[in-house]
Amino acid sequence: MNQNHLQEYDFSGRVALVTGGTRGIGRQIAFRLGQAGAKVVVNYRSNQVAADSTIAEFRKAGMNCMAVAADVSNQQEVLRLVAETEDRMGPIDLLVNNAGVFDYLNHAELDAERWRHTMETNVDSMFYCTWAVKDKMIERQFGRVVNITSIAGLEAKPYAIAYATSKAAMIGFTRSAGHAFASHNVRVNAVAPGLIDTEILADVEQDVLQQLIDRTPAGRIGTVDDVASLVLFLLSEQADYISGQTMVVSGGRVTLP
Ligand code: NDP
Repeated sequence: MNQNHLQEYDFSGRVALVTGGTRGIGRQIAFRLGQAGAKVVVNYRSNQVAADSTIAEFRKAGMNCMAVAADVSNQQEVLRLVAETEDRMGPIDLLVNNAGVFDYLNHAELDAERWRHTMETNVDSMFYCTWAVKDKMIERQFGRVVNITSIAGLEAKPYAIAYATSKAAMIGFTRSAGHAFASHNVRVNAVAPGLIDTEILADVEQDVLQQLIDRTPAGRIGTVDDVASLVLFLLSEQADYISGQTMVVSGGRVTLP
């Protein structure tokens, strides 16, 4: 985990909830928020070992943090997650809808069950989490939401039809929710990463990975810090005039709607 960035932002006193915050991209976003002074709640589904090691590392770095297990594709669990966060840390100022699953399947393998699993995990979770916090954010006239979508939502992905559809839905949600809440100082944006080095890529075949790297002008896979840097900017006051937008972090890969 890269701990050597300049401390550009001050999130002191803010409460941040990062779904899927115990591994990969979410973990680095949470770490950077904690470094910048936020009280951080990392959510995860079931990997207790990753959650324990994340919290141990964050506490070693002096952060006020906790981990909460909850399946964010289930609305009741989201309500419990948000209630626990509020009870122990206070009302949520910063929400990062990051938890997601990637399904590498061709059309013959994609069935209704896998479709539903992808949509529930990637899209329904974002709706449940945002809806669980938005009324208090509006009441307090402060809120920042960042949704982690993907450039898969901006391209044709014949081997990931459900995933690409779910990520396109996140972009649409961001646009409309960003518009709906903007007058209440509640901003909603999305970040669309290209290929990023995390465990989610474990099932992607080597030749497919290489093809993706070949299509990346920067000539490398992105890092979790590449994504976290953009997310922190969007959560910060530096981005106060930005809402409803999706920003791409992809090493120069150009994607068009
Ligand atoms: P990882 O697989 O490394 O980590 C996923 C995290 O999400 C884990 O903490 C996991 O918990 C959690 N999670 C998964 N399902 C649920 C659920 N139902 N409820 C609660 N938590 C859940 O993923 P990445 O860091 O690679 O990806 C994070 C996000 O970034 C995803 O939305 C992904 O689509 C997106 N993205 C990733 C790219 C990449 O190349 N890596 C590129 C573009 C977008 P647990 O540990 O318990 O399983």
